[in-house]
Amino acid sequence: MERERERGHDWRATSFETRAIHAGQEPDPATGAVIVPIYQTSTFVQEAVGVHKGYEYARTDNPTRSALQEAVAALEEGAWGLAYASGLAATQNLAYLLEPGDHVLLSDDAYGGTYRLFAKVIARYGITVEQVDLSDLDAVRAALRPETKFVWVETPTNPYLKVVDIAGVAALVQDHPAMLVVDNTFASPYLQRPLTLGADLVLHSTTKYLGGHSDVVGGLVVGNDRAVYETLKFHQNAAGAVPGPLDCWLALRGIKTLAVRMERHSANAQAVAEFLGEQDAVERVYYPGLPDHPGHEIAARQMSGFSGMVSFTLRGGYEAAAAAAAATRVFALAESLGGVESLIEHPGVMTHASVAGTKGEVAPNLLRLSVGIEGIGDIIEDLERALAAVPVAAIR
Ligand SMILES: *Cc1c(COP(=O)(O)O)cnc(C)c1O
Repeated sequence: MERERERGHDWRATSFETRAIHAGQEPDPATGAVIVPIYQTSTFVQEAVGVHKGYEYARTDNPTRSALQEAVAALEEGAWGLAYASGLAATQNLAYLLEPGDHVLLSDDAYGGTYRLFAKVIARYGITVEQVDLSDLDAVRAALRPETKFVWVETPTNPYLKVVDIAGVAALVQDHPAMLVVDNTFASPYLQRPLTLGADLVLHSTTKYLGGHSDVVGGLVVGNDRAVYETLKFHQNAAGAVPGPLDCWLALRGIKTLAVRMERHSANAQAVAEFLGEQDAVERVYYPGLPDHPGHEIAARQMSGFSGMVSFTLRGGYEAAAAAAAATRVFALAESLGGVESLIEHPGVMTHASVAGTKGEVAPNLLRLSVGIEGIGDIIEDLERALAAVPVAAIR
């Protein structure tokens, strides 16, 4: 934050596309390098004790990390950002805001790793974690308790792409001590900016769309409240789960093209969802861009596009889904999402295997696509190949 005030140009007044390329990323003051350098150093020289250029030790602050924090804060229209070694490290850092006795409301199909961290680690410290369907505002109202500290929203959710009304939940939380945290990983700030809809904090796994090239793991939190910043900044340094400078640089590099990538991800995913909806082998398609999706209207209101994630169930159960997932060539069979390349995965036995037997359990015949930015003709042809691999006996 200090660094930002030293700068001349107010990038916040510019368009999203311009901010993605320039905010926090002005030419290096020391050398004129146009791109923010990878400050691969663990420590910084002091002219005398305490006399330095704002950096002392790289766990506390590193210029490449400062640039990333400033860039994402500008994109989310927040006052500050804090970067972490992973999305889950960011979640863990937010948990340092909790006290024993506090209660957390988590969406019933929260990211599996988030659920695991809250239910198996954070809950050990006297914190109660409850899962509810946050797309049902009556259920949220009923579940709020005086000791609720976080309402933890993901939208669209994973893997069913349920849509949560951010402004609606924000209105419920407004007169309550709880903070509304939105995990904005699936939408990216290009398509959805939760702070402008009333959220208190936004969290990202920069591993996904922000990085965008499946080559880095990272996390970020953005907010406006200065006191919350001070607490989190203290814990970022105290607990030390910080990203290295190369990781920050890779995320920054990805962010420069976020706007054009999200446009193409969204267009390709819409075409894929419409194609799948017409196939006999497909039982049901989950994509907020389809008019019959239950969250379509809210998504159209709070997002400027529907992003690149599409889930669908196949007739023929587990066997059909396993056969289709093994038959693609353009789509790589892999966990994760948000990169330029298309990925397919089988949540019941991959990303969501750890939530079997909980409220987050998913159907065995469900497949999830992270639709990439390859040519749409090649993507559709690949899905035709996958569906053709489903054994006919399985469909009957
Ligand atoms: C991947 C992911 C996370 C966790 O992020 P990591 O970078 O893998 O630690 C959290 N939330 C969502 C929605 C994710 O997709």
